[in-house]
Amino acid sequence: MSKHVVVIGAGIEGACSAVELLRAGHRVTIVEPGEPGGEQAASFGNAGWFSSMSVIPPSEPGLWRKVPGFLRDPLGPLAIRWQYFPRVLPWLTRYLLAGWTEEKILRTAQALRPLLKDSPVLHGALAKEAGVPELIEHKGLLNVYFSRAGFEADAMGWRIRKQVGITWKEVEGDALREMEPDLDPAYTFAVLVEEAGRCLNPGRYVAALVAHAQRQGATLRKAAATGFKVEARKLKGVVLEGDTLLECDAAVLCCGAHSRPLAARAGDYVPLETERGYHVMFHGAQQGPRHSASLAGAKMVVNHMEDGLRAAGQVEIAGLHAAPNWKRAEILRDHLQRCFPGLPNPFPADRVTTWIGHRPSTPDGKPALGYASATRDIVHAFGHGHVGLVAGARTGRIVAQLVSGQEPEIPIQPFSPARFH
Ligand SMILES: Cc1cc2nc3c(=O)[nH]c(=O)nc-3n(C[C@H](O)[C@H](O)[C@H](O)COP(=O)(O)OP(=O)(O)OC[C@H]3O[C@@H](n4cnc5c(N)ncnc54)[C@H](O)[C@@H]3O)c2cc1C
Repeated sequence: MSKHVVVIGAGIEGACSAVELLRAGHRVTIVEPGEPGGEQAASFGNAGWFSSMSVIPPSEPGLWRKVPGFLRDPLGPLAIRWQYFPRVLPWLTRYLLAGWTEEKILRTAQALRPLLKDSPVLHGALAKEAGVPELIEHKGLLNVYFSRAGFEADAMGWRIRKQVGITWKEVEGDALREMEPDLDPAYTFAVLVEEAGRCLNPGRYVAALVAHAQRQGATLRKAAATGFKVEARKLKGVVLEGDTLLECDAAVLCCGAHSRPLAARAGDYVPLETERGYHVMFHGAQQGPRHSASLAGAKMVVNHMEDGLRAAGQVEIAGLHAAPNWKRAEILRDHLQRCFPGLPNPFPADRVTTWIGHRPSTPDGKPALGYASATRDIVHAFGHGHVGLVAGARTGRIVAQLVSGQEPEIPIQPFSPARFH
């Protein structure tokens, strides 16, 4: 049966959901206060990785020992602002527990693998449909270490990846020099995951998907959603700012890091935090990696985008409203200059831009994806944390299946929005 579905939020999850809902024969209205894929969305400024191997949650065994350091060093790769600490403590406790043992991490990886697998292929097909195939590249992602010993220190993550079927190629010494001639020679070892891919402009990709959805009949409404009208477990509509009721048969909640209050109004307590991240762009840079690369030590991803060289990373726990700490973007800039010494140094300031974005993060590194507790007419599709871009294509398909009353194509029980109740 064809339904009128309101998609709340036009980041990558909303854009993919809208396209797939239309394909399934539904009528779609997208509600978004900003520009689809605009700077306000995490989907705009991320690292662009379709990292199908990113199945390891951010928390790991023994991480609790580093918490004092997270508080002490406001510029460390993971920092928690003192003022925010009491508020984030319950989330942080769950976060540390989620990565307490290797067994727990393996279970998360087993859940995430089907969500992320094949993502470059799925995104490639979507981009082609939306008329922007040039934005997707499928030639593997490089994880660079100073030495083999550095890679071996990361052994648990790679062991688990192997257990869930991920393969890679090791590249060492001269072979790495040849593959990445601009890279600082201090890096001598890398792992190439060939199944992975990347997006050359995530913001433009999201905007193109939404424009494609509009061409297929979707309506874009510039507004923010504030709640739902549910009667006898049946959705009557989505409430917009100003108390306007947008009548519909179903709704998809995908407001990224802003989803928590709306999820509560749909009956679900989801402990959602923002892991704030930053990027710096060197526009017009010629030097840099041939493959997109994550760099050990710098804890950042470097990616040649269609409009410049981007370094993205950092995790800052300080809530949605605190002012950005632009020193963090400067750290990324400095790492970028160090990792690619051939870049003009300093890079001309008028060709440098910076950005802050909000990863929508649950403490266990898995999204909230499934029916709401208040009614099956509302589907949650948020909380993708560090893997929202890569997960978007499969998430959109699952959303369409759930709205259509079909069995989802992969197991989604581990993503149950009610798991935190
Ligand atoms: C520095 C950084 C690097 C990253 N790198 C990667 C990467 O390489 N690969 C990867 O897979 N992921 C990466 N991520 C994570 C990824 O960007 C996010 O997980 C993903 O973009 C989340 O998408 P989303 O659609 O859920 O949310 P968003 O993209 O944030 O979109 C949510 C939308 O909802 C709208 N909205 C908010 N409130 C309302 C409301 N009340 N009503 C209606 N609309 C509303 C917002 O305006 C916004 O447009 C990175 C993130 C950061 C910060």
